[in-house]
Amino acid sequence: MDWILEVKELHKSYKEIKAVKGINFKVKRGSLFAFLGPNGAGKSTTINMITTLLEKDTGDIMLNGKTDDTYFREKIGVVFQDNVLDDLLSVKQNLMLRGALYLKTKEAVQARYEELCSFLSLKEFEHQPFGRLSGGQKRRAEIARALFANPELLLMDEPTTGLDPETRQTVWKVIDDLRKREGLTIFLTTHYMEEAANADHVVIINKGLIKVQGTPAELKDQYSHDRLKIVPFHKDKFEAALQKEKKPYQKIADQIIIKVDETKEIFRLLDTYRDQIKSFEAIKGTMDDVFINVIGEANINV
Ligand code: ADP
Ligand code: MG
Repeated sequence: MDWILEVKELHKSYKEIKAVKGINFKVKRGSLFAFLGPNGAGKSTTINMITTLLEKDTGDIMLNGKTDDTYFREKIGVVFQDNVLDDLLSVKQNLMLRGALYLKTKEAVQARYEELCSFLSLKEFEHQPFGRLSGGQKRRAEIARALFANPELLLMDEPTTGLDPETRQTVWKVIDDLRKREGLTIFLTTHYMEEAANADHVVIINKGLIKVQGTPAELKDQYSHDRLKIVPFHKDKFEAALQKEKKPYQKIADQIIIKVDETKEIFRLLDTYRDQIKSFEAIKGTMDDVFINVIGEANINV
């Protein structure tokens, strides 16, 4: 297996607060890796150690099998949760200035700028001050900054938190396009469960510990249930039948919601109660279920 990043027994405390308590994971080259967890789980602490901004207490972080900070800084691009570009400068000024830190000649900076401008559609607002851009435009410019030095690993710390649904869509479109770029690996943190559903691999972290990890399909298989939503002709009669076969259910308005252990149980239920069903809907288990089952509802404070 071709791992770009390997994290072993990583620990970090801030005085008495144990933020990261011995975590292990690997990131496959070219994948979209989602680090999912509620506020305070230890996501940013982990990202900051990977970027070398924060010193780890103990453990190993290896990028392509290497461990020296200079190498990490060369190969990693970071999109921070809060924007870091200068509000008063234009997008172009911001990016050209940053680019000059990474690339040697003015021509190289200009060429890379043009490339990113076209890839992230920045051209139409390149001369506007960063501070006056919309949320989606700002995020695109921030992503351009992170990509300037052509990193192998792009870290994004909650790239969509606090954005309106439309802007989130824009950012997701960009992430989708980025995935198609050969070789780029994306590591993102999020507390939006459904975002993790698009990842190749998901790690769920809580209170500094990894609770579970796997592909979204594996996690959904193990920690979520499909549901059958039924609107019966006669609610009382239908409920009595379910109670008789000891099938647990929930009532929401005129609907009866039945959790099923296996998708194929839906066929059996539909067949058994065919004559009593006015309408129905089969609902797939979601990453929300996974999150609630793994972390517990009481711990979700996002
Ligand atoms: P997340 O990014 O998942 O929300 P963080 O990594 O920011 O979580 O925080 C993990 C824990 O460490 C939290 O309990 C948080 O309060 C604490 N923490 C984070 N940064 C600091 C800091 N600079 N000083 C002290 N405690 C911190
Ligand atoms: Mg954070």
